[in-house]
Amino acid sequence: MAGILRNILCSIFISVISLARLAIADDWQQQVDYAINIQLNDNTHHLAGKAIVGYYNNSPDSLHELYFHLYPNAFRNKQTVYAKEAYIAGDNQLYYSSEKDRGGVDILSVSGKEVRDYKIDETILRVNLTSSLPPNSTTVIEISFDLKIPEIFSRLGHSGDHYELTQWYPKACVYDDKGWHTDAYHYLGEFYSDFGNYDVTITLPAKYVVAATGKLIETQADLSGSTITGSDSEIDKDGIIPGLKALHFSAKDVHDFAIAADKNYEIEAIQTGNLAIQIYVLPKHKKAWKDVGKWAEQAIKLYGEWYGDYPYDELKIVDADDSPGAGMEYPGVVLISGKAVPFTTLHEAEVIHEIAHQWFYGMVANNELDEAWLDEGFATFTEIRYFEAIYGADNNILNLPGWIPFKLQITERMAARYYYYLLVSSGCDKSLNTPSYLHSSNEFGYGIYYYKAALILFSLRELMGNSAFDAAMRHYCYRFKFKHPTTDDFIDVCNQFSGQDLSWFFRQWIETKSNVDFEIKRVSNSRLRELQPNGEGYQGLVYLRRNAGNETPVEVTVQDEAGDRYSQIWGSSEKDSEVMTFNTKAGLRNVAIDPNDQALDYYRWNNHYPRKIKFEFIYNKPDLDAYQIFFIPYGWVVPPNTYRLGAIFQGRQFFDAGPALGKHQWSLFMAYDFRGKSLMHSLNYRTPLGMLGRFTRIYGGWSRNIETQNAIGGLSFNHYDSPFSKGASHTLDLSVASTHYSSAYESDPRDVSVGNLLSLNCIYDYKGGGIKFGGGWEIKAKLGKDVGNDVFEFGKISAEFFEYLRFTSKLKLFARLYLGYVRGAVPAQEHFFLSGKLFPDKALRMTWANTGDLSSQQRWHIWGDGNLRGYFGRHLKGKAIATGTIEHNLPLSPIYLFYDTGYTANNFNSAHLNNLKADFGIGVLFLKLLRVDFPFWISEPLPKEPNWDFRIIVGLARGLQ
Ligand SMILES: [Zn+2]
Repeated sequence: MAGILRNILCSIFISVISLARLAIADDWQQQVDYAINIQLNDNTHHLAGKAIVGYYNNSPDSLHELYFHLYPNAFRNKQTVYAKEAYIAGDNQLYYSSEKDRGGVDILSVSGKEVRDYKIDETILRVNLTSSLPPNSTTVIEISFDLKIPEIFSRLGHSGDHYELTQWYPKACVYDDKGWHTDAYHYLGEFYSDFGNYDVTITLPAKYVVAATGKLIETQADLSGSTITGSDSEIDKDGIIPGLKALHFSAKDVHDFAIAADKNYEIEAIQTGNLAIQIYVLPKHKKAWKDVGKWAEQAIKLYGEWYGDYPYDELKIVDADDSPGAGMEYPGVVLISGKAVPFTTLHEAEVIHEIAHQWFYGMVANNELDEAWLDEGFATFTEIRYFEAIYGADNNILNLPGWIPFKLQITERMAARYYYYLLVSSGCDKSLNTPSYLHSSNEFGYGIYYYKAALILFSLRELMGNSAFDAAMRHYCYRFKFKHPTTDDFIDVCNQFSGQDLSWFFRQWIETKSNVDFEIKRVSNSRLRELQPNGEGYQGLVYLRRNAGNETPVEVTVQDEAGDRYSQIWGSSEKDSEVMTFNTKAGLRNVAIDPNDQALDYYRWNNHYPRKIKFEFIYNKPDLDAYQIFFIPYGWVVPPNTYRLGAIFQGRQFFDAGPALGKHQWSLFMAYDFRGKSLMHSLNYRTPLGMLGRFTRIYGGWSRNIETQNAIGGLSFNHYDSPFSKGASHTLDLSVASTHYSSAYESDPRDVSVGNLLSLNCIYDYKGGGIKFGGGWEIKAKLGKDVGNDVFEFGKISAEFFEYLRFTSKLKLFARLYLGYVRGAVPAQEHFFLSGKLFPDKALRMTWANTGDLSSQQRWHIWGDGNLRGYFGRHLKGKAIATGTIEHNLPLSPIYLFYDTGYTANNFNSAHLNNLKADFGIGVLFLKLLRVDFPFWISEPLPKEPNWDFRIIVGLARGLQ
């Protein structure tokens, strides 16, 4: 069979060669044509084949060797560049894979008239030539290969008998004016390949439905008697698979070739003009995919208007069945997630984003590794334009049921703005000319090429004007069709169409990570009559400042008390301050810099006079322009016989949590307790303190519960290796607290002593963030004194060590060791509790009942202290504690097993080891939020209580408490 196909291939190949020598314009690029014949063995997941490569040296240089990518070798072992970067990024799939699920490509032979020998270095094949290949000459090389198809870790792979064959063949590295591009397969970052013509024949069992780049030009359905030759002969007893077919595809002017195969694909065909769109969907996803054709048609039409026609006559939209390879573009083929994300339009965004790549990647083919913004930024810009064109400027990426308040409306562009704000405020921003693979330790930062780049294009459009911009984009696509443009080429086109030199704009946005921040410092307003005898109306002076590095012209708009608007432009200037004069009929009511959000000013709160404050009922999304104050009604039933009603007020600039930096976040809580006839309240404030490091925050709070009054003030220093990504973090928290405990009906006198406690607290917390050992530790030290009547005076120290040990990607074990000691006259609440913590650290204390069945020492498990879950209801505590916990999950389920052991005593003494207690049980985690634990066995039951019994306690997931 291989013989028959080979003959067909050779004849086609000769005709391809004659077509291939396209005229080279003033700039040159190499051309590489491929005739490839492959056979898929779906039992052993091997793809064996031969590639005949025609390499056309259009460069002015003589080449002594040729380089090819062997991308599948990225999945060969844990030592590859890909494997190491994935590990750093926290993706452990390849690290924990077994040998049989990995893959790689073996080169069986490399031959050709000019071939001397070859050498393989992981994902690069170097072919040394016997003599140099001079400019304007051609060589033909035959490469036989055997590809072991891995499980899908990244792009190439199979999942059972679902195949995504991408980056699968020996693909020539690009040689351009910078030399050879022999980049490895990176965890983050895509590809760069030369254009050429492809002629690919795949032989495989006839039951597969195949989607591939290019046109299907021939099908040989009956290959009876043929065999699939693979590296393995497990095909069947005779080595024969009946019902093979051979599919022959041809593609012109593409720089990659992708194949997807699945036995269950159903095909929906749509013809729009000359374009045949085929949708390959798995039956289980048909419902989620019902609108895919409509989205594709809309996208093709709009993009054609904006950038010129779709360059090929076929487009295949392929269901990637939720593999990690989904959401990826190939020439003429896009791989899309099978399932939609509920209540969002993300599926549509994915489809039309990948289709946008047919222009920016497929047709206009920049180097995706070195200048990722030219494809991802352009595709994201196009995605936002699509949503604005189809659904209007107030489009919504959330598609929630109607009864949910519409306040959660977030437009595509707003989502990009939030991302950009977080990039800048968290310090993850980088210049756009950073190579994409340098983000593997901070995947969040990879978003610069998508969101920051898209927003820069919107700013550019404002700067150039719509018609010049649109003309420039069309020309760019026309001029660089089937070529490799660079950032400089795009700048040249923009300069040409805008009639001005825009290098200053691009230089600051592409080569630096500086940004834009304008501020209104002051506004003064006077009656002209007071300035000049015959003056009429008013004169307003607006004092402006440019705080950040980037220069850009910006609009300043004022509105007077009569409602009239006036605006002026503050031109791009090296000055960082300006005073603008507005002569108005009436006094100034408000002033805004960049009112239409065109300058990409990342910090917009200071763009307004007066500063904007918005009052919101319950909740609203973050507002980049206004300080928000929320009002949230509150009600809570405290069993058995009281309830509380009240309200929470919250104020914030953006939101301030972890690496997401907002400012001036406060909350005021007030609730009336009907049984205690008392008003409970708390006030908390927190804000970053930039001068002590980006993630240092100062905080303070006051609360009055029924039984306690509490005041606290402190500083917390956070240090992240990479915010928003996996990686180590350190936190140091220093605080002073004063707590008054009074006797009240609420607390259990076994657990709480009455008094006034002043304490100094120091907490140091380290989290490793690794994959294999994700653990960390926390040391807490506390000095406390009773300031009222000197009953208490104590020093307290505790240490918690925890470690995640991973055995496989699915099975991990959690181990915790807890040690604590408190010395002096200690109130009950400062002892170490054996079964779990008395009070939560983070949650509102008044939310939990302090007595009764659902209180913290009865059945409500607050993770912490001794954590011996079998001993709830016993109120056991001591001045010294040593406990250990082991928990391990059952793979692929929310169920885990736990073992706890340890003791409390009033001092550390070996005799107390006789008091060692232990428990064992099963827990279930619901929605990753609520833990329900069943400690079936305990070592020291009460009199008449059996060791084995049904016990149940509940609590929140560890991280929430
Ligand atoms: Zn993309």
